[in-house]
Amino acid sequence: MDYFELVDKAYKEHNLAKGEVMRLLEPKGVEEEAYLFKKADQLRHECVGDCVHLRGLIEFSSHCRRNCKYCGLRRDNVSLERYRLSPEDIVKIAHNAALLGYKTIVLQSGEDEFYTADVMAYIIKEIKKIADVAITLCIGERSYEEYKIMKEAGADRYLLKFETANPGHYREMHPDMSYKDRIDCLMALKDLGYEVGSGDIVGLPGQTVEHLAEDIMLLKELDVEMAGIGPFIPHHSTPFRDEARGTLEMTLRMVAITRLMLPYANIPATTAVGTIHPQGRQKALMAGANVVMPNVMPPEYRPRYEIYPSKICIGEKPSHCRLCIEGIIRSLGREVGQDYGSYRGR
Ligand code: SF4
Repeated sequence: MDYFELVDKAYKEHNLAKGEVMRLLEPKGVEEEAYLFKKADQLRHECVGDCVHLRGLIEFSSHCRRNCKYCGLRRDNVSLERYRLSPEDIVKIAHNAALLGYKTIVLQSGEDEFYTADVMAYIIKEIKKIADVAITLCIGERSYEEYKIMKEAGADRYLLKFETANPGHYREMHPDMSYKDRIDCLMALKDLGYEVGSGDIVGLPGQTVEHLAEDIMLLKELDVEMAGIGPFIPHHSTPFRDEARGTLEMTLRMVAITRLMLPYANIPATTAVGTIHPQGRQKALMAGANVVMPNVMPPEYRPRYEIYPSKICIGEKPSHCRLCIEGIIRSLGREVGQDYGSYRGR
């Protein structure tokens, strides 16, 4: 089977073996790659439509108890000026985002135990009282009971990237964490009825093409509703400061193959891909992605949530971001989604 036939197989069956995914990750030429992106874009159009769903991102705390080697928020980074927002401020920012038309709010932080499940439940309920939005949480590993409390309070979705599906590579990236815990958390979230998002980082030090194929196989096995794939960008205050960043090409291939394997998944064009290339988000939206997550934080906090450096849109006001993103989406002949943009595959 040649490369084009393999893309066609993925497009029709959504079910490749790991070796086949590896072959798709290494196209032989420009035409092959263009065909991969074209078929992923076609499947995106057929399965999730032309709307691009916006998720308003609130990075409410930059404190983190973990020490992931690639992340600027890691606890050993003492040069970072940390912040925490009060529940009232979080609710206010969410309300403002809803007024700008966002139908999903993403509450994201480092792993910060200051925000107990009860505190999160309070925030979720307060937001839902005043804003007609779906709520996605992205706050790391918690117990089953805590996930349950937050689900019962009204949380709809949960993002927990596994970052790398290879257990040995996972151990290297996360000195004080367990791959098994990560997977257990994802299973707990599924069991509780969250729409679950996971994903990886493309170009992590020590990563191989086989690892990337394993990432896609795991996304498929978990049958995730959302799949986040962004490039690695080295941060100057981490052990990976001198490593090379992930490439645009491999990130786009990962997005495209993930679309072919998970036709109904919500797949973001990440801010990180927009950071490594000025047209990165546009290219991702044309290679299978259907979601963008603009930051809705007041500009004064944005530079202080530095998972990686040189993030785009750091000085923008939320209202400006919203208009800018809308312009990007329209320039591609697509529309901004007006509903919650929930998973449509079941
Ligand atoms: S990746 Fe998440 S858990 Fe790891 S250090 Fe960064 S914020 Fe903390």
